[in-house]
Amino acid sequence: MNFSDITGSRLPEPTQSCALERVTISGGKFINAGISCALGLKDKPIHIDHGDDFCGILENISNRCFVFYDVDDRRAWLLDGASTVLHLLRASIKHIQYDKRFRKLLCSPEIIELHDTSLEQSFGSRALASWDVLINRDNLNIPLRLKNTTSWEETTIRLGEKKDQVIKEKTTYLTVEDRIEQICHILCQITAHYDDVKTQSGVGFRIRSTPRRQLEGFDFTDLAEGAGTLWPRVATLKVKGQGWVDFTRAIHAPTIFASGFGELFTPSPEAKIAKTVVPSCAACLWNTPLPKGIDYLAATTSDLQAILHKRGNKRLKPWLLINGIHWYTPDLVCEPCSGTCCYQSSKKGGRCGDRVQVLLPATFPKGFATKSPRNLPVHGAVIFGHSFKFPLIWGAKREDPTKIGEPQEEEGLDVKETVERFEDSGIETSLGTSPSHNESEGKEGQAGLCGDEGFEMTWAGSGSVSSSSNSASALYKLPNKQFIGK
Ligand SMILES: [Zn+2]
Ligand SMILES: [Zn+2]
Repeated sequence: MNFSDITGSRLPEPTQSCALERVTISGGKFINAGISCALGLKDKPIHIDHGDDFCGILENISNRCFVFYDVDDRRAWLLDGASTVLHLLRASIKHIQYDKRFRKLLCSPEIIELHDTSLEQSFGSRALASWDVLINRDNLNIPLRLKNTTSWEETTIRLGEKKDQVIKEKTTYLTVEDRIEQICHILCQITAHYDDVKTQSGVGFRIRSTPRRQLEGFDFTDLAEGAGTLWPRVATLKVKGQGWVDFTRAIHAPTIFASGFGELFTPSPEAKIAKTVVPSCAACLWNTPLPKGIDYLAATTSDLQAILHKRGNKRLKPWLLINGIHWYTPDLVCEPCSGTCCYQSSKKGGRCGDRVQVLLPATFPKGFATKSPRNLPVHGAVIFGHSFKFPLIWGAKREDPTKIGEPQEEEGLDVKETVERFEDSGIETSLGTSPSHNESEGKEGQAGLCGDEGFEMTWAGSGSVSSSSNSASALYKLPNKQFIGK
């Protein structure tokens, strides 16, 4: 991906109804890991203790997830903390190298390439692959630009001889390690705000009562450049785009905004099922890039497995992903495209199978939406958002009821408009009967393709290594290419 393509979100600053209204983050001052830092909120100082080492602060951030939201493409990704830091680090290195003010202070005229780790070496976990890059000594020692030069005079005195005077000079450099610490420090301040759920003035507390369509966070370019004060931003999601907000709020994932993130997850170049390449399919979204313009959220199966393992319950129907939120699968997850029905639907310009996953609030009536994914491939990613086979009209706020139905989208809605305009939760239309993906399958001996249950459920933290045939069943292969700059 090309970091010069990533630009500021141009989103407005939060209004009175926003949780981040009075929050600013200080990025200018370099504070060593190990020192507690106080947050800028006047009446609400928060103290964070990072532990006393570089790996401690990195571990702190790596335990988190962040939402990357592209304001122009209108799509979002859930990224693990280590990958978030690595992404910001790469952008920040480019920023230092291209900033004309630093041209005489640069340590290298060439583009700096970090030593990368292959996904295979990291047990197939993208989070672990990013972590390995961030703790690689060869990477940490790379000098980026001149920091300081100090000189002093030293006098050597020997008995009976003349004084010997020399001038000595010491030069220090801003290294990759320094930059990682700065980025972690800023992210630590932000996550501390999101974690503050105990008091009424805490961001974490306030954010739960803001409208679902109101997405608050910070600009990627501000974070990457990391200087001075960082101001929060607010975006407004589409009516159909708010289905994942309760979940990202429940895991206290801060939002990072930009325009032009590109493909953060790339589809597998060759998605093979039983040694046959199954071409990507726009009708059922098999092995395609994350669609734009619909406010979908993509998340990797390894991150979701980690959340399910720690906070969820897969014995319930549907699965409990995290307290108060159930994972319902109206149709498909990562099953390969079965061909015939999709081909027919795409000729008519329509969609076929529905790969979009639905996150149901615990208050949703129980009984009929019980299905969850049968299997989750190791290297896959899934989409959360508006399902055309199970459309929902979301209540404006968390306490408002959510019901089945097709919401009406406003005309010409802009991501920068404030949310107060949209308090009505849309107009209900009847739930249409969509053609089932499975109806016309299997007629040409292809039923076996859909029934590929060879992949096992493993997750990054379990330490088990996936066999390479498993990854073929993934919607996205995620070969960590998303972090290679062009
Ligand atoms: Zn298909
Ligand atoms: Zn189909």
